[in-house]
Amino acid sequence: MSVPLNPNVKHFDVIIVGGGPGGSTCGTYLAKAGLSVAIFERESYPRFHIGESLLPATMPIFKETGFYPKLNSGKYIEKFGARFVDYQTDDEVYFGFEGGLNREIPSAFEVERKHFDADILAHAVETGVTLHQPVRVKETIFHDSHVSVVASDGESVSEYTCKFLVDATGRDAFLGKQMKTRKPNFDLNNVAVFAHFTGVKRNPGKHEGDIVIGLLPEKAWTWIIPFKGETTSVGMVCNSSVFKGGADLGQYLMDTLNGSPRVAEYMKGAERTSEVTVISNYSHTTDTMVGPRWIMAGDAAVFLDPIFSSGVHVSCTSGKLASNVILDALKSDSMLDADGRGAKYQEDLLRGVKRFHNLIGMFYEGAFVAQMKKTLTLKNAREGFTSAVAGDMWNEENFLFQKNVL
Ligand SMILES: Cc1cc2nc3c(=O)[nH]c(=O)nc-3n(C[C@H](O)[C@H](O)[C@H](O)COP(=O)(O)OP(=O)(O)OC[C@H]3O[C@@H](n4cnc5c(N)ncnc54)[C@H](O)[C@@H]3O)c2cc1C
Repeated sequence: MSVPLNPNVKHFDVIIVGGGPGGSTCGTYLAKAGLSVAIFERESYPRFHIGESLLPATMPIFKETGFYPKLNSGKYIEKFGARFVDYQTDDEVYFGFEGGLNREIPSAFEVERKHFDADILAHAVETGVTLHQPVRVKETIFHDSHVSVVASDGESVSEYTCKFLVDATGRDAFLGKQMKTRKPNFDLNNVAVFAHFTGVKRNPGKHEGDIVIGLLPEKAWTWIIPFKGETTSVGMVCNSSVFKGGADLGQYLMDTLNGSPRVAEYMKGAERTSEVTVISNYSHTTDTMVGPRWIMAGDAAVFLDPIFSSGVHVSCTSGKLASNVILDALKSDSMLDADGRGAKYQEDLLRGVKRFHNLIGMFYEGAFVAQMKKTLTLKNAREGFTSAVAGDMWNEENFLFQKNVL
């Protein structure tokens, strides 16, 4: 339907719904390219969000967008590795990121998302993005010539228009739900229970920022993510079929953690400083991620599982890829899904996501620590798996990808 633009309505090249890491990264790339971009974020920041351990492979994106110096300003603890501990044998396998294929990504950061999300969104604004916050997008109407966006700040409702819309609404999956294309991922039907603590034991020196993953009975596992200062994020994940959380979730969390002697040792002096939160049914995807005037980025398109901390990396990678699709479409004055661009976006994004999925499958098959300890004695395998655990899933030089191991 051809509907003329209303001159009384504020118009942007691109409107991004959602100011998480995916939306902020996409907005920053587009604003740096000279486009008029608005981000609509419904929550006031700072606010809690899950997803606190970053991956080294995201750092080059943050360097490109200019965000890296803020991340590396001393506010966040540096993460040089990931250690996996088996509850049965007490065996540990360690992935030190400096040993990956790409020697330029030796570390990442552990971040309290209330600070990180505020920082990355503020950076997008500094690069020229117009921010509407707290403003919720309620409706999007797609015309042949543009998109109308209806948004509410809680008191009044306003209309905006744009050429293209990015759905970066996270697991809310605004468009996926509207179009009924969001599909739960039944082979990753997990529940997560988590809280923040003080007094959790830390590893010494450079290893203070390592993420610790504790394997537990019934394919459950725990994470320990230390932040700068006293606070540590601790959570557990299990299949929904074995989840037995009752009224006292705090006790359930502690009892589960005590299933691993090594994790119990980390938690000996711990005191909980936040509510316990439960999230379930978070794994999902969607068949079509791009339409003529819309594109999905980050969790709004796909989210797998927290085990390898892939979420923020996939979101920022898709934010970057989506910005390229938009810039290409504008250059050729065509639609986002024209000339095979939409299909290519999806293919590029899912190439790395599929590799994460394969690694996740390997983890849930069991005996991950024992298997990895054996595998990592081979130099090639050590480099390949370390790269994968660092999130370098779009690096075609990894022989694990060339040989379809991942
Ligand atoms: C248990 C668990 C543990 C995890 N641990 C990790 C981890 O350690 N590391 C990691 O990288 N990832 C982790 N993740 C994943 C991580 O949380 C997400 O992948 C990441 O936050 C996705 O970023 P995003 O920008 O796509 O979405 P989000 O960060 O969810 O941002 C979406 C934003 O959109 C806003 N929004 C939604 N609807 C609207 C609307 N209608 N109008 C305006 N604004 C709207 C929301 O308020 C939100 O701020 C974990 C996930 C789970 C479930």
